[in-house]
Amino acid sequence: MGTPRTPKGRMKAIAARLAVEYPDALCELDHRTPFELLVATVLSAQTTDARVNMVTPTLFARYPDAAALAAAVPAELEDIVRSTGFYQAKARNLIALAQGLLDRFGGEVPTALDDLVTLPGVGRKTGNVVRSVAFGLPGLPVDTHVGRLSRKWALATGDDPVKVEAELCALLPPAQWGDYSLRTILHGRRVCDAKRPRCGECSLEDLCPASLLPRRPARSASRSVSDQVAAEHRHVK
Ligand code: SF4
Repeated sequence: MGTPRTPKGRMKAIAARLAVEYPDALCELDHRTPFELLVATVLSAQTTDARVNMVTPTLFARYPDAAALAAAVPAELEDIVRSTGFYQAKARNLIALAQGLLDRFGGEVPTALDDLVTLPGVGRKTGNVVRSVAFGLPGLPVDTHVGRLSRKWALATGDDPVKVEAELCALLPPAQWGDYSLRTILHGRRVCDAKRPRCGECSLEDLCPASLLPRRPARSASRSVSDQVAAEHRHVK
């Protein structure tokens, strides 16, 4: 298959291919409730999901809801989240976030992105994770993999995640936003490494404008035609 010429055509083909390769893409942050996912996503900044999953069992046992977390002693919370990095800022944000949930949302996690992003430590990426994963609502989280791969696929331009989100959302039905993000993250982790993309093993290779593999069929076809012409010229002479 050739590379579709329009971003919309390319998005359709790539999203369909990703759905075949990662049919059951799940968020890799362990959680049981929207509150737990919100807290885990805030903690996942600048670290791995696996690292967050190591601390959340203790964290959620000690602070099972917004009321408990809002009343946390900062030094105790810092100890629990220390291994995720930036632990002082994260502990501070988590307590303020829990306080915000209590004060303005009855202790519940809101579903509207405009509300989510008013909470300390919560940006559009985290808000969209909570919307799409915890609530099954439209949301397209743009993390480093989603931005990087979407630019490789010529579906988005620039480095601004807000702009990338808007560009991608315009190319996909809202019901597919969350799955596109989860599947693209998996593809970035497993196949399209930032430093060494494994184009030879990539199921999207024929659709990807950034593939490192030579475009053999087109080149060899045109070469063979010119070779034939050259041969005919030699024969005529
Ligand atoms: S073809 Fe290569 S650059 Fe394109 S998505 Fe696949 S691994 Fe990444």
